[in-house]
Amino acid sequence: MGDLADRVAKVHERISAACRRVGRRPEDVKLIAISKTVPPERIRQAYEAGLRDFGENRVQEAEAKRPALSDLAVTWHLVGHLQTNKAKPARDLFHWIHSVDSQRLAEKLDKVGARPGDRLPVLLEVNLGEEAAKSGARQDEVPRLAEALSRLETLEVRGLMVMPPFFDDAERTRPYFRRLRELAGDVAAKNLPGVSMQELSMGMSHDFEVAIEEGATMVRVGTAIFGPRS
Ligand SMILES: *Cc1c(COP(=O)(O)O)cnc(C)c1O
Repeated sequence: MGDLADRVAKVHERISAACRRVGRRPEDVKLIAISKTVPPERIRQAYEAGLRDFGENRVQEAEAKRPALSDLAVTWHLVGHLQTNKAKPARDLFHWIHSVDSQRLAEKLDKVGARPGDRLPVLLEVNLGEEAAKSGARQDEVPRLAEALSRLETLEVRGLMVMPPFFDDAERTRPYFRRLRELAGDVAAKNLPGVSMQELSMGMSHDFEVAIEEGATMVRVGTAIFGPRS
């Protein structure tokens, strides 16, 4: 437990330092602990260390772990690719979905299991590196996608998400983070109903400081909190 509390404190310090460099407030950056492959006992310890937002990348894994954590007041984020046939459990299990990348998926999410008045906050995932192995919409598709989603009554588009190509030197991811922010500005300028571009989900363990300097409002941090994944 001690090691986890120390790591969480260290991450908070890094967030604050990055915010100071660019005149932002640390409370405007949400730390999401990415708990994929992490067992429930360890997630509970992270909760006890003060974390309240957790992210998983697979619906099935989240489903398996959740019963052991149902007493915690956690906000759960789905950050991994979502297949349309998992839309229903995803909607039941998660409070935020960061990985909406097609109109088809969004329409499925809109139809399944929403109660009247529900609006599920979602982010549009953008494949800025145009990497074949990664999910995400192409950047030129994003404005049209936002327009299509604007018509869906039980979803609320709150911003964009990116998983840029990996570079050892975090500084090299900066242009991608900057591009995501610009793209969010382009979409926001369309003033679509049900679409706001307040959230930028970007930055992981090795590059979240750069992401914060470029405007990240949500950072997704796994390794720096839980240690290396096996
Ligand atoms: C695993 C994962 C992260 C966290 O990565 P770390 O390098 O361990 O911080 C962030 N975002 C997504 C989508 C992930 O799958």
